[in-house]
Amino acid sequence: MTPCPVCENKSHLSSMDMTPELVAEMAAQEPVSDYAGDKLVAKRLEVCKACPKLIGGMTCQDCGCFVQFRVRHKTAACINGKW
Ligand code: SF4
Repeated sequence: MTPCPVCENKSHLSSMDMTPELVAEMAAQEPVSDYAGDKLVAKRLEVCKACPKLIGGMTCQDCGCFVQFRVRHKTAACINGKW
């Protein structure tokens, strides 16, 4: 699988005991230069939460990323074109 360009530097997190809440908290603290805005981030997360590809409430089965990080980038996109 090709690493997600947004999350490839998050591989160190996989060895930790992650929860959706912890991932969301960490994502909220990470400064991003192309922040998509609260409204768009919330909208994207709703789409991911309803998606059958979301594993454990945080990992996209198809791109392998933590969606809570990915949705925050304006230029990021769902690998399946859902947002
Ligand atoms: S990024 Fe796309 S495919 Fe992955 S969980 Fe979110 S909506 Fe589903």
